[in-house]
Amino acid sequence: MNNESNVPRIAIVIPCYNEEAALPITAKALLGLIDEMHADGLVAPDSFIMCCDDGSRDRTWQIIESLHAADKRVKGLALAHNRGHQNVLLAGLHTVADMCDAAVSIDADLQDDPRAIIDMVRAFRQGKEIVYGVRSSRATDTWFKRTTAHGFYSFQRAMGLDTVYDHADYRLMSARALRLLAQYGEKNLFLRGIIPQIGLETAVVKYARAERVAGESKYPLKKMLSFSIDGITSFSAKPMRWIFVTGLLLLLIDIVVAIWVLVARWHHTTISGWSSLMLSVWFLGSLILMAIGIVGEYIGKIFIEVKDRPRYAIRDLLVD
Ligand code: UDP
Ligand code: MG
Repeated sequence: MNNESNVPRIAIVIPCYNEEAALPITAKALLGLIDEMHADGLVAPDSFIMCCDDGSRDRTWQIIESLHAADKRVKGLALAHNRGHQNVLLAGLHTVADMCDAAVSIDADLQDDPRAIIDMVRAFRQGKEIVYGVRSSRATDTWFKRTTAHGFYSFQRAMGLDTVYDHADYRLMSARALRLLAQYGEKNLFLRGIIPQIGLETAVVKYARAERVAGESKYPLKKMLSFSIDGITSFSAKPMRWIFVTGLLLLLIDIVVAIWVLVARWHHTTISGWSSLMLSVWFLGSLILMAIGIVGEYIGKIFIEVKDRPRYAIRDLLVD
């Protein structure tokens, strides 16, 4: 804690892309929340919000500037161009890491109930270092969004990507967790996959997901799909192992095919050349798949090396 009263200074980090409609409402609500938490003795009075403009094309940055002019607890950061939610969020988290005791990331549209921050801060004060906001209901999302989102979670899990179910990027991280996160130097960053890897004590806070306060979703199905594929391919080399497994399975099926081909040949029901062609097509096919799978295993190793992730994270050290 960076002040003597042991009350934590909290930063609320908001990625904003073309959020001119939502931002004034959101900033007001979050400042009100900070006031309320301060009155309850939960957070320090200099807790603040950090609005991170992701190269918006509307008046988002001008709005952040005027909010900052009116209240210094609204801080801002602008990327030079649109780099996407994950990157702008990371820029915000890196920036506030040295300015706060804990940071909460929340979307600009307040779909994630801001009041859950109170519970997150409580959990933080009880020693939890990463607190995940998890949606208890998706009633306000459309049926389509809900089903596709759940489909993505299951698919990602099958592909070796371990994420917290129904958790988006609404979470609290302690300053220590933020510093550990900063050690991940990879460029294809998928925060929801990385953060469970950091370790430390975690907790979950449930909340109901609401409608956007204003503006439109910037995550249509197409973006969600590419986000999900990005998540898997930037995280796990498992799909490549599947190539090898498929080849191996085909090799087993080969045995059945070979028996069938030979039986057919013995019964003289085949035209000449069919048996040898059948056998070589199946055998070579599975061999080629296995060979690609083996190459894939090596590429998987390179993939992990290139990411240069920290191999461990030291939580505490007693050396004196
Ligand atoms: N966002 C961003 N850069 C982008 C797209 C979105 O910073 O390229 C922000 C956006 O302003 C919002 C958050 O990411 O604060 C989530 O976007 P949105 O609410 O549109 O997604 P949805 O909730 O519909 O999945
Ligand atoms: Mg949203």
